[in-house]
Amino acid sequence: MKRVFFFGEGVAEGAGLGKERLGGKGAGLAEMTALGIPVPPGFTIETTVCAEYTRAGLDGVRREVTDSLARIEASTGKRFGDPSDPLLVSVRSGARSSMPGMMDTILNLGLTSATVQGLAALSGERFALDCRRRFLQMYGDVVLDVPKHDFEEGLSRSRAARGVASDADLTADDLRRLVAEYEEIVRRHAGKPFPEDPHEQLWGAIGAVFRSWDNERAKTYRRLHHIPAEWGTAVNVQAMVFGNRGDTSATGVAFTRDPSTGEKKFYGEFLPNAQGEDVVAGIRTPRPVNADGSGTSLEETMPRAYGELLRVRDLLEKSFRDMQDLEFTIEDGKLYLLQTRNGKRTGFAAVRIATEMVSEGLIGEKEALERVEPEQLVQLLAPVFPLKEKADAVAAGRLLGKGLPAGPGAASGRIAFTAERAVEMAKSGAVVLVREETSPEDIAGMHAAAGILTTRGGATSHAAVVARGMGKTCVVGAGEITVEPRGAGLRARDLRAAEGDWISVDGTTGEVLLGQLPTRPSEILQVVLERSLSEAESPLYGAFYRLLGWADQHRRLGVRANADTPGDARTAVLFGAEGIGLCRTEHMFFEERRILAVREMILSETVEGRRAALAKILPMQREDFVGIFREMEDRPVTIRLLDPPLHEFLPNDEKSIAAVAAELRVSSEKVADRVRGLHEANPMLGHRGCRLGITHPEIYETQVRAIFEAAAESIRAGGRPRPEIMIPLIGTRAEFEKLRDLVAQVAATVAAETGQAVDSKIGTMIEIPRAALQADKIAAAGCEFFSFGTNDLTQMTYGYSRDDAASFLPAYVEAGILPEDPFASLDADGVGELVAIATERGRKANPALKIGICGEHGGDPRSIEFFHRTGLDYVSCSPYRVPVARLAAARAALAESGAAASSTA
Ligand code: PEP
Ligand code: MG
Repeated sequence: MKRVFFFGEGVAEGAGLGKERLGGKGAGLAEMTALGIPVPPGFTIETTVCAEYTRAGLDGVRREVTDSLARIEASTGKRFGDPSDPLLVSVRSGARSSMPGMMDTILNLGLTSATVQGLAALSGERFALDCRRRFLQMYGDVVLDVPKHDFEEGLSRSRAARGVASDADLTADDLRRLVAEYEEIVRRHAGKPFPEDPHEQLWGAIGAVFRSWDNERAKTYRRLHHIPAEWGTAVNVQAMVFGNRGDTSATGVAFTRDPSTGEKKFYGEFLPNAQGEDVVAGIRTPRPVNADGSGTSLEETMPRAYGELLRVRDLLEKSFRDMQDLEFTIEDGKLYLLQTRNGKRTGFAAVRIATEMVSEGLIGEKEALERVEPEQLVQLLAPVFPLKEKADAVAAGRLLGKGLPAGPGAASGRIAFTAERAVEMAKSGAVVLVREETSPEDIAGMHAAAGILTTRGGATSHAAVVARGMGKTCVVGAGEITVEPRGAGLRARDLRAAEGDWISVDGTTGEVLLGQLPTRPSEILQVVLERSLSEAESPLYGAFYRLLGWADQHRRLGVRANADTPGDARTAVLFGAEGIGLCRTEHMFFEERRILAVREMILSETVEGRRAALAKILPMQREDFVGIFREMEDRPVTIRLLDPPLHEFLPNDEKSIAAVAAELRVSSEKVADRVRGLHEANPMLGHRGCRLGITHPEIYETQVRAIFEAAAESIRAGGRPRPEIMIPLIGTRAEFEKLRDLVAQVAATVAAETGQAVDSKIGTMIEIPRAALQADKIAAAGCEFFSFGTNDLTQMTYGYSRDDAASFLPAYVEAGILPEDPFASLDADGVGELVAIATERGRKANPALKIGICGEHGGDPRSIEFFHRTGLDYVSCSPYRVPVARLAAARAALAESGAAASSTA
């Protein structure tokens, strides 16, 4: 079977094969070639070879590679290793989903001490030597494991000796000495001379790029982005074109639309006389592609190439029907495209681009939904700095500088100057990672930080690309700020800051300020919640609203919210919740004026005493429910009866013990004794949930009475409340039956008293494995709904304490024992099997059973996909995640119908 695919001169063997086999870069090169866009010829070794490489090396593709190399030679008219006019190639990784900077790349391959002479004769000595020193460094680092800093030290020494700041100012003589020094560094570390045979170089490079799939930073990136290890990377070998061939040459990157805002304007940066990594590495600050009046833009300095680039941009957007991130090189005035891929973008840009492309007729609604990751919506809700506080800080002289806005939102945090320190410091509070520039090694620190600031680099630098992908607040290229060596601090004009000092970065404007700033709601929240901005004033809100409207048309899962107060209920409805899936009544008990009555209830030793205390609680609970019913109108409201163990409500300091004692007219000692008496060794598995309802029925009776009295009152006020009474922690049918009868009896009594019939339901949480297995018995006992409490279900299925698992889960994930934290994303294999069993058995016994989920997983997109496939009726999550869940539910439905379509095709 063919596994190496040539592209060049309008022929692309791999066109249409797709990213699965060719990787993103390979597929892009093949498509561009087929579109007639100027692409230097090359070939792609497909992704399946990556896994095979570890077992069997490259023997399986040796002949195909050699044949394809010959085709590059034929098409360029140059020969590999030809001392008079050598063919040079780049060797690059390219996975199915882009992993910016995580794997290795080698440029200028084919340069030997003989071919460097030929290149010098043709293109100038300085240029040839510059290529050679870059190649020695990259190949030494990637293939021969020579420590990078040895090369970098050599380079800074040369710059210092010549007294220049930029590599571009080194002379041919400097470079000749540097090349000799690099060759020596390689010999010393590798124990043998640098390979002089270009074929040996090529095989070494291909192998190293395949190996780089498994380097530590690639593995971390895959874990963070849920990319399967089996995918593997492809390898692309391509004839070099040179952006560092003098002032008519350049290299750059561009986006077909603005990746920060999504605005439909061409957006890019370039560096004259430079090679690819110079732009992304952020070492020299690049210039804009579009004219900006500075006279240095590409549009102004190379208008022909710029015009050609605009033509390519239109072709690419029409053909790929998505925003493209492209890399180009101009060699002696001629434009070449080296890469195109779907560009990474902020949540703002994702929503805007998807909806505008629908308006432009480029894509349909379903595709628009597939283009926005549910998690990206969180960014649209992320806080911003209030204008006034920011202006005050600026007026007070705290503005450190301004860089390019590269990642959304606003963040204040303590300064960390290294990724390691960021990870450490983030354990005890918000951190802003401050670096000259970031590199792939910093990925863990970037993840841990609340915000990222770099003093160099442009909008396509590593920091910007990665932060955008993570949805993290980021400012890059804040050139007025200087980071001092070895974490000594930062300074800007007369301002200074050290590690641990507060700093604030505004990812929307690029401003960087000393000190901590408060934050305020985002634009969307200003429209939805505050109403301080009208819908018409916010095109972003318009796009957000349209997209979620399409999501609602395509999803099958209902979306409810977990809300305990009328305020939360209102927020939930404004975000589109169709009901409350979990109202945790215990939160109502904690309110200041109530906790005393609650404590009285718990601490009194007689039923009468408890009833007296409960009588004080009843009106307050009733008032809460009236408020919630009012906000929810005729939407269902699932109310869970008291769940946590009683001691959670108890006083544990002397002052509050004395207060309860005074109220109960007993001694403090007696109260303290009772508190000790209620202590449990393992409260999560102790006297909580329905067990409380069974031993202290008066508690549940009071709560149910409050609910039905509130419902009656709401009906009298013209409402249509729909309470659903939910019993927590059921493990047996008998428990459910007993409490079902209690609820029914109180409901009947209240109905008789008020004369109001309430449309209500009774059901249970399924959060104990036994309940999942006995779901048919429970469903048959008059149970009208199930709601999976996947927090407890995960805890009890794994036997991991929810409150203690943080001490070992990170180590488990790190070691690959668990793919991720099962409390954050549902374990589909184990916990999920219990969910599936309970759903099937429950529905068999009671086909009308409504089934939902209200654990934390209800707001997690991947878990939502599982709940969709398992056939649940709804998910319930925190109000702010309702938009995420709506989109995730739609995407789950689309993924399923897409899968169905392709399996019948
Ligand atoms: C659950 O266990 O998943 C649940 C929703 O209840 P809680 O988190 O209150 O225990
Ligand atoms: Mg629970």
